[in-house]
Amino acid sequence: MIPTAFEYVRATSLDDALAKLAASKGEGKFIAGGHSIVPLMKLRLSQPKVLIDIARIPGLSGIREKDGRIEIGAATVHHDVATSALLRKQCPVLCDTAAAIGDPQVRNRGTLGGSLAHGDPSADYPASMLALDAGIHMNGPKGWRVVKASEFFQGLFTVDLAHDEIITGVQFTPVRAAAYAKLHQRASHYAIVGVAAALDASDGRIRSARIGLTGAGPCAIRLRKVEEALAGKTASTDSITAAARHAAADVQTVNSDLHASEEYRRAMVPVFTRRALEAALTRLQRG
Ligand SMILES: Cc1cc2nc3c(=O)[nH]c(=O)nc-3n(C[C@H](O)[C@H](O)[C@H](O)COP(=O)(O)OP(=O)(O)OC[C@H]3O[C@@H](n4cnc5c(N)ncnc54)[C@H](O)[C@@H]3O)c2cc1C
Repeated sequence: MIPTAFEYVRATSLDDALAKLAASKGEGKFIAGGHSIVPLMKLRLSQPKVLIDIARIPGLSGIREKDGRIEIGAATVHHDVATSALLRKQCPVLCDTAAAIGDPQVRNRGTLGGSLAHGDPSADYPASMLALDAGIHMNGPKGWRVVKASEFFQGLFTVDLAHDEIITGVQFTPVRAAAYAKLHQRASHYAIVGVAAALDASDGRIRSARIGLTGAGPCAIRLRKVEEALAGKTASTDSITAAARHAAADVQTVNSDLHASEEYRRAMVPVFTRRALEAALTRLQRG
């Protein structure tokens, strides 16, 4: 289908983007990569009167290290995350997550901020944002605020972002011993089940683990029962296998659609939890 008529404007700065959004009086929407909003507009599920392009705002994209933390700008495309030398060295789970998104066209246009704002239940980044305990930074008429990933994803296509706010980027402490494992839809590559696991260990013992699950339910969640089962255990395949069995208990509502039944998704959650944890353990042991 063809979208309803709309005006297209390009923002030159963050302030300009917010001013243009305010001027649209609730009829405007940001466009970054356009890989989620344009399909919605073509289906007429979204009918903004003004599209405000934020993809070329100076400083809104890029991957930087600051005081031991990593910042990724909201307009950074998936390809740049997948191929970042800084992330590959310090936080390879994010390269793996971004590399698993869609196809080259999607990865070259789609952005981190767009993916987070859209809140698709099958998007890949949310699992890794949860495992990294990332802070999501946003700006709006009431000023700046940061929301933890564990509070940001609230439901089906629902995130803690007001209609007059813009995501500016994410910030997190990099974790080397972290990995992403995903069962993907064959056509689109969206996650049927995707699990990101991050391990913190010393002297061969797991001090703590953070595990994010996407694809299975209405929004991404932490697998707290698995995290609790791992804390204090020996960093070994046996501990991981035992803890991963708790994964299904963490998941309340499970999606069912043409790609996978509820039963199948539920069965795959522990399998991909174990795979993500095993890959994180391998990274832990290699240092
Ligand atoms: C064929 C296909 C396959 C795909 N496969 C996958 C996949 O395997 N895994 C996956 O995770 N995703 C997948 N995607 C989605 C893709 O990753 C999108 O790029 C992403 O969901 C949205 O990013 P975008 O920059 O394109 O956002 P846009 O489409 O430009 O915007 C999406 C929404 O976010 C809002 N928005 C954008 N940026 C901001 C911002 N900075 N602050 C506030 N609001 C903002 C927009 O107003 C809009 O409502 C796929 C998409 C397609 C078309």
